[in-house]
Amino acid sequence: MRGRIVTSKPESTPNVYPVPAPYAAHTLLDEDRYFELYNRSIQEPDGFWREQAQRIDWIAPFTQVQDTSFARDDLHIRWFADGKLNVAANCLDRHLHEHGDSTAILWVGDEPGVSREISYRELHRDVCRFANGLKSLGVKKGDVVTIYMPMVPEAAVAMLACARIGAVHSVVFAGFSPEALAGRMDDGQSRTLITANAGRRGGRSVMLKNNVDRAVALCKETTVDNVVVFNYTDDATDWNPAIDRDYAELVAAQSDECPAEVMGAEDPLFILYTSGSTGKPKGVLHSSGGYIIYASLTHEYVFDYRRGERYWCAADIGWITGHSYILYGPLANGATTVMYEGVPNYPDVTRVAQIIDDHKINILYIAPTAIRALMAEGNKPVAGASLESLRLLGTVGEPINPEAWKWYHRTFGRGQCPIVDTWWQTETGGAMLTPLPGATALKPGSATRPFFGVQPALVDNEGNILDGAAEGNLVLLGSWPGQMRTVFGDHQRFIDTYFSTFENMYFTGDGARRDEDGYYWITGRVDDVLNVSGHRMGTAELESALVAHEAVAEAAVVGYPHDIKGQGIYIYVTLNSGIEPSDEMRITLRDWLRAEIGPIATPDVIQWAPGLPKTRSGKIMRRILRKVAADECDQLGDTSTLADPAVVDNLVANRAAAT
Ligand code: ATP
Ligand code: MG
Repeated sequence: MRGRIVTSKPESTPNVYPVPAPYAAHTLLDEDRYFELYNRSIQEPDGFWREQAQRIDWIAPFTQVQDTSFARDDLHIRWFADGKLNVAANCLDRHLHEHGDSTAILWVGDEPGVSREISYRELHRDVCRFANGLKSLGVKKGDVVTIYMPMVPEAAVAMLACARIGAVHSVVFAGFSPEALAGRMDDGQSRTLITANAGRRGGRSVMLKNNVDRAVALCKETTVDNVVVFNYTDDATDWNPAIDRDYAELVAAQSDECPAEVMGAEDPLFILYTSGSTGKPKGVLHSSGGYIIYASLTHEYVFDYRRGERYWCAADIGWITGHSYILYGPLANGATTVMYEGVPNYPDVTRVAQIIDDHKINILYIAPTAIRALMAEGNKPVAGASLESLRLLGTVGEPINPEAWKWYHRTFGRGQCPIVDTWWQTETGGAMLTPLPGATALKPGSATRPFFGVQPALVDNEGNILDGAAEGNLVLLGSWPGQMRTVFGDHQRFIDTYFSTFENMYFTGDGARRDEDGYYWITGRVDDVLNVSGHRMGTAELESALVAHEAVAEAAVVGYPHDIKGQGIYIYVTLNSGIEPSDEMRITLRDWLRAEIGPIATPDVIQWAPGLPKTRSGKIMRRILRKVAADECDQLGDTSTLADPAVVDNLVANRAAAT
């Protein structure tokens, strides 16, 4: 089982986008070199990872590369365990000598025309000062520090300052409610909170400090000693002198030097909660050594990153994508990382393209939800833009519908930029299934092949490994350095969630199909799979077929109890701007699905949805849609990570009209 090797190459069919020849000549690797490295990473993992580990600076070298077991009763995951390092020093100090003046963070503000460049030297100084500030408040190695910040450079400073002194950061997305913030602070027993008086998004202030005051009052399992407040906007807030500390005052008195704490490779770097698509969010804990090696290696290869390029990951630092691919991976590689404060459609839908042109961005990495939202506007989002600086596009977060992929490729990519569709999870720390520019011919909608060291497999419900072209549960057969180490405070939940379904395998919770070329296609969460008259259907395929219709902006498909078929097909559709719902449209879409997929895919119910319930990270929450479809609106479960609860109220109110 271990050591399965991917060897086939994709055939040239119309739906394959080969690597453009001029492109391949300038990339880090070509296809042959990918296979060579991949095969070595599986056959000689210790040798491979020992070499890769040299990409970071160690304070003391490690002796053993890995000590891992996925056995339920002997679960352990340790990488480079006796090595010593500091992650912040790897992201800052080691670049100072030769690249101190190059831009580390290119910050782009919510208001057009506002931006700021911060060099590695400046970032190092700010991090040291703030780290000293934290120390002066009594924060020590191992303490959990919660960060509830807008997308400003000070958020990055706070994260790196924690890493510098060995405190474990727990970033909570700044859009979350006081209840959600308090829940995460309690869970982490966190006594220190870093925030701002307010943030700016879409032209408005988001009053963070007010939420913090309520959260502090709500905390039950922890007592908050210090709330550090970065006074960012003019908005006034309450001030509690007993615990509130002014950020500017705190750093003013501090030295520019702060020795980096010596950390064990397995010491925790951070806790981060999953998005909650499938249930109560899990406090994912990541290590120091394995994580930074994996984040930096994947950042370099997946984005084919070259020094000096401007790389924009348009995620929020409140998500794992922001941790690994705005902050840690790029900074470990000495990159220029773009941090954008705002939203993709403020002041209008051309904003993303404007930023690319204004700042000559080379690489753009965004989520399918943003792509679909822009696509609903036709060509407007790129109208008048040059986009010539762009060399590579990426996506992450959900399966990307082929139609959205092609739109992204045609508009932002001008038909020339490859798209890296990266499949991964909060739990995996970095990209797992992904094309590599220069090495991978692309198929729209496929996350293609495994990254180095990753051993994906498909299993049936009994855990039998399926060979060749197949569809099943996506599992990983061995560990990789970026793997999470535990669910914070609940190791049993870690074992139960990931290692109890299939013996000796990490279960991802996702379903996938592998084609004749060994390419993987994520079919959706296995909990979301439909079973209609004995036919199993992934949500991704049905939704992609719907999105391919010219009238449809977005769609979500769920099953609901059906007397005859077992499960009926219930579809929620958001139409493109300017298109009105009608009975004719219902029939059109029904016939469209029958033609695209087959009679088995005939929908039983189509409900018009002006919006779909999404997590704050933009993922469709099908478990809620399942409840609405089943008429169990009183049992919606954990909705604390919903972006907009009003969307659900609307769906519930309009359910009757659809059924
Ligand atoms: P929870 O685990 O709490 O339900 P979540 O799974 O939404 O939340 P994340 O870790 O942010 O939290 O998301 C990982 C999931 O996102 C993957 O398991 C997969 O379902 C989906 N995903 C991410 N990237 C891709 C991609 N490129 N293609 C398809 N699906 C993706
Ligand atoms: Mg998950």
